[in-house]
Amino acid sequence: MAGAFLPFTRPTIDEETIAGVAEVLRSGWITSGPQVRAFEAALSGHCGGRPVRVLNSGTAALELGLRIAGVGPDDEVITSPLTWVATANVVLAVGARPVFVDVDPATRNLDLAQLEAAITPSTTAIIPVDLAGLPVDRDRLYAIAERHDLRVIEDAAQSFGANWRGRPIGAAGDLVAFSFHANKNVTTAEGGALVLADETQARMAEKLRLQGVTRSGEDGMDVDVLGYKFNLTDVAARIGLGQLARLAEFTEKRRALARRYFERFDPDLGCGLPVPDFAQSNWHMFQVTLPLERLAFGRGEFIARMRAEGIGVGVHYPAVHLFSLYRVMGWRAGDFPHAEAIGASIVTLPLFPAMEAHDVDRVCAAVAKVIEGGLA
Ligand SMILES: *Cc1c(COP(=O)(O)O)cnc(C)c1O
Repeated sequence: MAGAFLPFTRPTIDEETIAGVAEVLRSGWITSGPQVRAFEAALSGHCGGRPVRVLNSGTAALELGLRIAGVGPDDEVITSPLTWVATANVVLAVGARPVFVDVDPATRNLDLAQLEAAITPSTTAIIPVDLAGLPVDRDRLYAIAERHDLRVIEDAAQSFGANWRGRPIGAAGDLVAFSFHANKNVTTAEGGALVLADETQARMAEKLRLQGVTRSGEDGMDVDVLGYKFNLTDVAARIGLGQLARLAEFTEKRRALARRYFERFDPDLGCGLPVPDFAQSNWHMFQVTLPLERLAFGRGEFIARMRAEGIGVGVHYPAVHLFSLYRVMGWRAGDFPHAEAIGASIVTLPLFPAMEAHDVDRVCAAVAKVIEGGLA
């Protein structure tokens, strides 16, 4: 029994949230307003009381974080090549230069043992990425950042709801960027948030997210810096409030499904499994690497055969430095072997809160069938 098609992810939007959005739409105020302020207050509560400002994407949160940290032309920013391309694009967007450091093949996150060797006198910031929601070791990361006087803009786009040493990601650290894209653990359809150190930075974020406008001067308004159009709508913020209320439940369900994967996934297939972290990861994705050297077909054919079994599989992500835009800037194959090998063989299997244990079992059986049917 194949059953209904199982996508690799699907947002869970409840009827209370849908009714709340309808209320906002009828209220006469649909862009940034009371829902945005309420969402920011709730996010701040989640982040240990630190100021949080919402934005219209996670990319915007990262770019604003770089601007607030003072990163600009001639600066180098160290990040991972195994991430969504937004992480490196924002570095280019502020005129700085990305410097990639290879990933640790076990965690698939920045290899902190290699990080210090990449620091130069031009390095001003690090953007660590919590791939699939597995937190980068914050203790080691911040020890390095402090030793070299570097700013940190955490790309926590995938790790909202994860924690480090018992505290939520966002409750500690320098600047922390979240994404609320449709595929993320908490969504506003499109959206993001930046966690800041203090009220001065929060006011800067408010100014930069709306054209650089400040409420001051003789006309009650002035513009003294070039800002963006990065504000979130009240319609989106209301979705976020409905999602945030269920964060603990969503995360618990994801962890239970991830545990089921470890119980049911056949280790003899030769796939590379994620780190089994049930205390800290939010299990944004369940990703395995395929044993391509043992298969008669490539990743594309694996995905097509899984689809024929009624199961959606994603690719997150090919290594950033091998995209054409980055190749023309000088990067090439061989620069970061672990990121390249993982980026070429990784697949994202279905994991979202509305799934049940039997869905995981179905995925595991299909993976076994497809791989066993393709052994060279
Ligand atoms: C989703 C994501 C982003 C960007 O978030 P958007 O809301 O899509 O702009 C950045 N980095 C990582 C690692 C992501 O997964």
